[in-house]
Amino acid sequence: MSLGVDLVPKKVCTLDCVYCEVGKTTTLTLERKEYISFDEIQAELIDYFNNNPDPDYITFSGSGEPTLNSRIGDVIDLLKELRPDIPIALLTNGTLLANPEVRESVKKVDLILPSLDGVSQKVFQKIDRPSKELSAAEHIQGLIDLRNEFPGKIWLEVFILPGYNDSREELDRFKEALLHIRPDSIQLNTLDRPGTLPGIKGASRQELQEIADYWQLENTIIISAAPDRKDVKSYRKELESVIWETISRRPCTLDDLHRMLDIHISEINKYLDVLESEDKIEAQEMDRGVFYQVKEK
Ligand code: SF4
Repeated sequence: MSLGVDLVPKKVCTLDCVYCEVGKTTTLTLERKEYISFDEIQAELIDYFNNNPDPDYITFSGSGEPTLNSRIGDVIDLLKELRPDIPIALLTNGTLLANPEVRESVKKVDLILPSLDGVSQKVFQKIDRPSKELSAAEHIQGLIDLRNEFPGKIWLEVFILPGYNDSREELDRFKEALLHIRPDSIQLNTLDRPGTLPGIKGASRQELQEIADYWQLENTIIISAAPDRKDVKSYRKELESVIWETISRRPCTLDDLHRMLDIHISEINKYLDVLESEDKIEAQEMDRGVFYQVKEK
């Protein structure tokens, strides 16, 4: 059971990835500041710990890039003070890790899960649509520097989108970069559901396996597919039913579900993955975004 902590509002990010499940980036920036104030986060965390059982993990993730919050280091210190025994994970796109201040501020977490989607500048721009000052070379150097300084575990996610970043040349560049970065684990992932661009599709499990076989790197794993999520301890059947019933009444976007049910977008995404993999719902792209509706049998 993980407690998700959001340090930036939806949707502040250094990237605007074509596959982003949170939606289009509305503030594309490299500016680090207190997007959500430290005092507000501190009050919420204290209230949470006073009124709930301790989670197994605390995870920075959510609605944008958490390292854009300039007080992330203070939040980590606070968590280590309040609950020193709960491990902390940081989900980040990794683009700000080239900045030594950012690496310094996150060094006390236990696990960092950065991403790398493109090694050549062209592919990086096509898939991640970064803020214009960012370069793929700097991104990779930041990951190498992190590996050299960070004592915790690094699980690097490579998100494969067929036609975007799976050419032989790019896969060769990936391999070279991965050998330099030396993450503890390389996690191959792909799209389960529509991203912000119409018409993009995820890779099949077999395609991911072929990439892992081509690389021949011993620590590559393929992220578990949606059906396996039901086996996770924190999976709540009643939440699945609530989401399913809401969609049964009328088609909804991810945002609609988030507003109506007051459940975090990342959380809703997990259940949509399962419902879609079981052929109970389908996604339809319309003017207002991607709608989820009951699948006619
Ligand atoms: S880095 Fe993450 S939050 Fe930002 S656009 Fe990409 S997928 Fe979305």
